[in-house]
Amino acid sequence: MIKIKINGIVQGVGFRPFIFRLATEMNLKGYVLNSSAGVEIEAIGENLETFVKRIQNEAPPASQIDEISHQFTEDKIYENFTIKKSKSNEGITLISPDLAVCEDCVTEFKNQKDPRYNYAFINCTNCGPRYSIIETTPYDRPKTTMKTFEMCNYCKSEYENPLDRRFHAQPIACPKCGPQLKLIDNDFNEVSGNPISQTIELLKNGKIIGIKGISGFHICCDATNFEVITELRKRKNRPHKPFAVMCKAENLAKIVEFEEKHLKLLKSPIAPIVVLPKKANKLSQNVAPQNPNLGVFLPYAPQHYQILSDKLPFIIMTSGNLNNEPIAADEKELGKLCDYYLTHNRPIINRSDDSIIIPTKKHQILARRSRGFVPSPQKIPLKTLPTLACGAELKLTFSISENETIYTSPYLGNAATKRTQQFYRETVENFQKWFRIQPELAVCDLQPDFASTQFAEKLNLPLVRVQHHHAHIAAVMSEHNLNEKVIGIAYDGTGYGTDKKIWGGEIFVNNYANFERKFHLNYMPLVGGDAAIRKPVRIAFAYLKKIGENTDFLKDISEMEKNVISKQLETHFNVFETSSIGRLFDCVATMLDLFPTISFEAQSAMALEFLCERESLENAKVYPFKVENKIIDIRPILKAISTDIKNGEKFKNIAKAFHKTIIYFTLDAVQQIYAETGINKVCLAGGVMQNSILLDGISELLSKNNFTVFAPQNLPSNDSSISVGQILIGNAQKGVL
Ligand SMILES: [Zn+2]
Ligand SMILES: [Zn+2]
Repeated sequence: MIKIKINGIVQGVGFRPFIFRLATEMNLKGYVLNSSAGVEIEAIGENLETFVKRIQNEAPPASQIDEISHQFTEDKIYENFTIKKSKSNEGITLISPDLAVCEDCVTEFKNQKDPRYNYAFINCTNCGPRYSIIETTPYDRPKTTMKTFEMCNYCKSEYENPLDRRFHAQPIACPKCGPQLKLIDNDFNEVSGNPISQTIELLKNGKIIGIKGISGFHICCDATNFEVITELRKRKNRPHKPFAVMCKAENLAKIVEFEEKHLKLLKSPIAPIVVLPKKANKLSQNVAPQNPNLGVFLPYAPQHYQILSDKLPFIIMTSGNLNNEPIAADEKELGKLCDYYLTHNRPIINRSDDSIIIPTKKHQILARRSRGFVPSPQKIPLKTLPTLACGAELKLTFSISENETIYTSPYLGNAATKRTQQFYRETVENFQKWFRIQPELAVCDLQPDFASTQFAEKLNLPLVRVQHHHAHIAAVMSEHNLNEKVIGIAYDGTGYGTDKKIWGGEIFVNNYANFERKFHLNYMPLVGGDAAIRKPVRIAFAYLKKIGENTDFLKDISEMEKNVISKQLETHFNVFETSSIGRLFDCVATMLDLFPTISFEAQSAMALEFLCERESLENAKVYPFKVENKIIDIRPILKAISTDIKNGEKFKNIAKAFHKTIIYFTLDAVQQIYAETGINKVCLAGGVMQNSILLDGISELLSKNNFTVFAPQNLPSNDSSISVGQILIGNAQKGVL
């Protein structure tokens, strides 16, 4: 007889019926059950080793086996193979993320003879809502928002049949017994008629519709209609930031270039937005203005399949939220933002945004880890105390851990808004409840003004304050199972330093407990703090003024602004010193005529990247720089760029040389650290590593020079991973690791 134990995401994803079918097919006898630790199996019969292998190889698509162990014991007598009732519900069972509707369900959905033909809430054990509908654990229908829908006999017969794809599919429903779509106007009055055909008609007529999906709202409009997109940009106060486009797989090639691996990603149960090179296409110019890329995704909720058609092949589907706020779970939160709402009566308890992936030549940048990932845990090779790490400010997440497991929240928005803070508190409570973790340690950022820091201070727990870039690097170390001293590179926008200055161009030698700041960009003046960040031409003016260069060529800055900034530079009033590489990008971008004022984070850095037009840097020059006495001196670079501009050098060449220079000064600094310490493992971290030229370029050059490079892979490089790094550092500083 064989006893098998499996843990990972194995509950609520069709695992027991899969085992039942496999065992029956292989003529085995015994049982399978859900236990607190995962799934347990006992079986007697032939080919038991093959049984284990087939479990691993053929597991349901939505499951994730973290560990499978087996032992052979004395035979017991079994008459047949059964699915036993679950053991006690103690301990933690993992909650599956929300999953894109599967192919089997889509086939039924399109089949006129199927009882769930065109039914927007079709799902099975391989697909549909999970995280978004769960109220408490264990995951069972009465503990989800499906509890108010009483199953009809048809659904019940499937739910109870171990051979059925819907055996114990908790959200199981059909048109007779389940949730329904409805269309309402923005006074929240129901519009009569078929909600889907009305929605299509309204979209074709240039209306903006809020669409409630699996995990939250999207705001939808026709992606070929310039006027409606302009209107949407006005309403969302979003003049430039690119929108994502949803289309069917067969239409993808009309708008973006992609490879087979990208298609696989798009079709996965995560169904992320994937950012791909844009082709000349019929979409309106203002979908992703001045951007060579386009974020695309495939329909992943059944109603998306109905809305997309030959008449309406491309739709904008952008997060249904107000600026910097969490994605809406109810149309009331969006008010008049949309003209109509296609909504439904299956409540969303836990919201998550679409996840975003940016493939580069060599890497895959996970720009947003949310729907499809959350709340899957991350395993680390170390034991932690029960810990709550509170995160940063922008792109806020928190993480909660116990022993070797970290659970990270979805992307929550910007902590400066009241609604985000409320959502944050609720989600912290839920995570503590579901994963039964009572924190004994809190960790936060060094920055005292962050709402997340203030939240941590009120927890009445021992509190560790962690330097922002140390946390960035620790997050990358943790996903690569590193627990040693490394060279950590954090290229970032803004992070509070131990000297109270604004850091962001940092090269450390660090482990989890400590860091030593080996090199940083020389400090430059940030005049007026956040106001300058929104208007980067002010940064360029102050930087050039500081190094005695001509500023006359800068556009969109008034004489009055110049005078005020000059005065501030003299008096040091409201002037912060910063080593941020994000600000250096801002400065150079405006010197090259790109966006004197920005409307979203990292807009200048992205524009500078795009200016290089994906060309090789091989023939680009390297500007002079100095890397010595702990400083990477960027002043010679700025002077050389000024000279190039004066001499009429092409802006594209300047942008390429600028990127190449960063790659080379990074190598110089890293080589000096290696000569001193012998460390050759390098971790790349920070928001600026979302720049694919830098990420690919730095990792390639360092690898060529015999360094082992670790890049962010399964966690974002931006601030949404800060909370993960905080967990590791907090525990290390408490002497736990
Ligand atoms: Zn399905
Ligand atoms: Zn039913």
